[in-house]
Amino acid sequence: MSQTIKAGYRIMSPNLTDYDSLYHSFNWQNEAVNLEGLPANKGLNIAYEAVDRWAKGDDAQRIALRWIRKDRSYQDYTFSGLQQLSARFANILTTLGIMKGDRVFSLTGRIPELYIAALGTLKTTAVFCPLFSVFGPEPVFQRLSRGDAKVLITTSALFEKKIKPLMERLPALRYILLTDGSLPLDARVLSLPRLMEEAGKDFLIPPTDPEDPALLHFTSGTTGMPKGALHVHKAVLMHYVTGKYVLDFHKGDVFWCTADPGWVTGTSYGILAPLVCGVTNLIDEEEFDAMRWYSLLEEHQVNVWYTSPTAIRRLMRMDILPMKQFTLQPLRLICSVGEPLHGDAVLWGEKAFGMPILDNWWQTETGGIMIANYRSMKVKPGSMGKPLPGIEAAVAEITKDGVQIISEPGKQGQLVLKSGWPSMFRNYLHDEERYAQCFQNGWYITGDLAKTDADGYYWFVGRADDIIKTSGHMVGPFEVETALMEHVAVAEAAVIGKPDPLIGELVKAFIVLKRGIRGDENMKQEMIGFSRKKLGPAVAPKEIDFINELPKTKSGKILRRLLRARELGLPEGDISTLEKSG
Ligand code: AMP
Repeated sequence: MSQTIKAGYRIMSPNLTDYDSLYHSFNWQNEAVNLEGLPANKGLNIAYEAVDRWAKGDDAQRIALRWIRKDRSYQDYTFSGLQQLSARFANILTTLGIMKGDRVFSLTGRIPELYIAALGTLKTTAVFCPLFSVFGPEPVFQRLSRGDAKVLITTSALFEKKIKPLMERLPALRYILLTDGSLPLDARVLSLPRLMEEAGKDFLIPPTDPEDPALLHFTSGTTGMPKGALHVHKAVLMHYVTGKYVLDFHKGDVFWCTADPGWVTGTSYGILAPLVCGVTNLIDEEEFDAMRWYSLLEEHQVNVWYTSPTAIRRLMRMDILPMKQFTLQPLRLICSVGEPLHGDAVLWGEKAFGMPILDNWWQTETGGIMIANYRSMKVKPGSMGKPLPGIEAAVAEITKDGVQIISEPGKQGQLVLKSGWPSMFRNYLHDEERYAQCFQNGWYITGDLAKTDADGYYWFVGRADDIIKTSGHMVGPFEVETALMEHVAVAEAAVIGKPDPLIGELVKAFIVLKRGIRGDENMKQEMIGFSRKKLGPAVAPKEIDFINELPKTKSGKILRRLLRARELGLPEGDISTLEKSG
């Protein structure tokens, strides 16, 4: 199946016309010449490539961002306007004494200040870390403290609800900038609009080494608290290359990535890649709503749309045929990422939009798309596609002797990537050892299981660990268990992902209550309420079971895999390490 080309706007030849020939001739240097670099050979800075270089000459008045408010009114920001706003923000940070490498966090919905702050921070060579505004106070605290946050940008409402109670536990957090406060509350809590007004609109980006840290994204681990994956300014080359070959950006395009910048997709592709490629980036402040989404695609004449399997499954359940009810001629490409996109969803794209939905694969650590389906390449529904030109992928067996590549098609193993691509994470913050464990014999071990077929397509099999993917978001069981354990009635807790037709997996907790406490419906509701308050609805368990004992290994490790098998009625596998109860 290749993409159906309909009349009108969709006739635009793809940037990648022949996968095999580009894959074999690809060279990063040849692509790097399409970036400008800082003037006077002062290095490479993401914000310069995304904004400043367009803010001169003919492109200055083109629309860089279109922000759609909840009430559907919208505001446009040109490249020139964005240059000045991000420069003002950079000047604020400099005045506040923020230095190269310092961490600047955001906790907001999708509002312009978030985008301005991200670009302004990158200009100063400080490191930007966007947090998901739906996180509860505990995940927010974990990330701010582990990330050594010096500055946080947030709204008054989120400040009151989530940050104020944490202030004493975060002594290193020097400044909080309120996006909607007109007056400073005290010496630590300042008004961003006031500071923006006072700041200068010119900012000279300091010399930036391509290896200077730029972005921090937290991702969940199976054990321990979230890991902060650190990315560098050189990642901009990946934003450019994937924007060009996977998202097929053409000058003048309108692009909409539905992911929140609190997740890596929402930053690499919801902020940076479209700007780096000079296309207009749509931002919708509102959450998912099928009719709204279809009508936004129509009204704003979106050409390229990047969304998630959870959203696609939601749309598939509704009785709407978008091509009949909406004028979507400009739309020529739909891509999906974050969880498996099953073949039926790919084919639904044909029926609903006249084109297959193109799946691609990557993760927080890779910083950009690694495996993809391309407009010009035959699509095999259910496959993640083939490695991006410039990326060497393989399926391997990891033994104590190292990485053994499996060349046989159809045999599953760990998905590995040859290390060294531009947007590869350069560390886990404060955790060199964990970082080192991800690499063997020059390969990065992704933690996913996959297989290839005889034509070189990659097929996702599953995770090699216990990490849960719910609505496209990684949730570490340990983080949820830790929060549950804080409830006075809880003796022990274990958390698994349970397959769910809509959100991929739902977070399910097994709880052992303290002696004498009854696990009835009221207690269940109490636990759900407690964890939602602590963790936020995106992370908190949706289902809870009370059990008498957790299955554990003889060394005391919770056997989540066994709980999962029992829950799903699957074979229990090897239970030789199981500690017998009694
Ligand atoms: P994150 O770091 O939150 O972006 O999550 C990365 C993980 O999401 C990967 O390691 C996979 O387990 C999963 N994932 C991402 N894209 C896909 C895809 N196209 N198909 C299947 N799983 C995916």
